[in-house]
Amino acid sequence: MDLRFTPEEIAFRDEVRAFCRDALPAAIREKMIALRKLDKDDIVTWQRILNAKGWAVPHWPLEWGGTGWDGVKLYIFREEMQLAPAPEALPFNVSMVGPVIAAFGSEAQKRRFLPRMANLDDWWCQGFSEPDAGSDLASLKTTARREGDHYIVNGQKTWTTLAQYADWIFCLVRTNPAAKKQEGISFLLIDMKSPGVTVRPIVTIDGGREVNEVFFDDVRVPVENLVGDENKGWDYAKFLLGNERSGIARIGISKARLRRLKQLAAVERAGGRPLLEDPRFAAKIAAVEVELKALEMTQLRVLSADRHRKDNRPDPASSILKIKGSELQQTISELLLEVVGPYALPDQMAQEDRWNEPPVGPDWAGPLAPHYFNWRKVSIYGGSNEIQKNIIAKAIMGL
Ligand SMILES: Cc1cc2nc3c(=O)[nH]c(=O)nc-3n(C[C@H](O)[C@H](O)[C@H](O)COP(=O)(O)OP(=O)(O)OC[C@H]3O[C@@H](n4cnc5c(N)ncnc54)[C@H](O)[C@@H]3O)c2cc1C
Repeated sequence: MDLRFTPEEIAFRDEVRAFCRDALPAAIREKMIALRKLDKDDIVTWQRILNAKGWAVPHWPLEWGGTGWDGVKLYIFREEMQLAPAPEALPFNVSMVGPVIAAFGSEAQKRRFLPRMANLDDWWCQGFSEPDAGSDLASLKTTARREGDHYIVNGQKTWTTLAQYADWIFCLVRTNPAAKKQEGISFLLIDMKSPGVTVRPIVTIDGGREVNEVFFDDVRVPVENLVGDENKGWDYAKFLLGNERSGIARIGISKARLRRLKQLAAVERAGGRPLLEDPRFAAKIAAVEVELKALEMTQLRVLSADRHRKDNRPDPASSILKIKGSELQQTISELLLEVVGPYALPDQMAQEDRWNEPPVGPDWAGPLAPHYFNWRKVSIYGGSNEIQKNIIAKAIMGL
């Protein structure tokens, strides 16, 4: 097994690196390095720059803006984006609903939605989870009843990320309540401006507004917004969730944050030496670096095996990458909190806008405590780590 990149892949990596260096606006790069929250404009701006270059949707079919890159090139591209560090293209558009419409949507849906998704002219959000349907997603209860050439949608979604910005939501809805759980579900595209759609914020432990509840009260949705066949939505959801897990180790993000961690730990502290000179703290950083290197090798082994895979099924090894990748991201956020030290005190946390307004301490300290709290999410979304362990037990260990 050869884990080295070919000369052509190294040239490609350098091309992506140079592009990020030249094209990423400095203000966005600085926010990313400082771990400040991005606003909607930052994400739209960067995705449009990528789209102008032809790189917003590299894994889509060629006719809809894809690049034809293989898995290794996609990996290199994502890692360079994360190392830049540049924002991720909006995953709801690019990695979730886009590929579903490209694979299963009608020609009219492809023409209407895909170019606008790639350019982020429409912001999409994901309406899968419900109050009693998260890990057990197939228990979802939101209904869509056919009435002439419309569906009438009633129910509630939850944890809907950035729904406050969204023009459209892609939803799993129950179209046949009499069928077995997985067999009565359909995949429906709903205009967020439709009468009867209400978005209510959920304020999270970091004080931010990243997730929402979305309510549907007799919302009329044209039948032309059904993707694929009625009651086949579960198949499309499985396809989507398989895509969601690929690249979830986010090794480039961890590398970039580790770089930031070392930089901040090297800063002289009031009344003391830099934390990096404390051998116990330096040992913690070294341990993370070793684990990250091991994860990178595992990721490259999976990619190397992928080069020879004939089928398109998600490799169950991606569950290992998800668990280990999210654990490392959380460990790094904990070490960043150690670097902040007393500036993460509760009175700092009580400020109105914790992400952007550090009231005490150095400017760099402000976002680190909210970042720590926010990053608890990575072991939950994309399929919680416990669910990933179940997948490993069944698919890899045969239990
Ligand atoms: C920040 C954030 C953003 C999100 N964004 C979106 C979004 O945009 N759209 C969307 O649709 N959803 C979103 N989600 C929802 C996410 O997919 C669910 O939170 C996740 O699937 C877990 O479901 P749940 O919250 O209902 O927890 P539950 O499924 O109730 O699980 C609770 C606990 O029990 C454990 N557990 C459950 N079942 C098992 C089992 N069989 N074996 C072992 N342990 C088990 C879980 O691991 C977890 O620890 C988001 C979640 C978060 C935290």
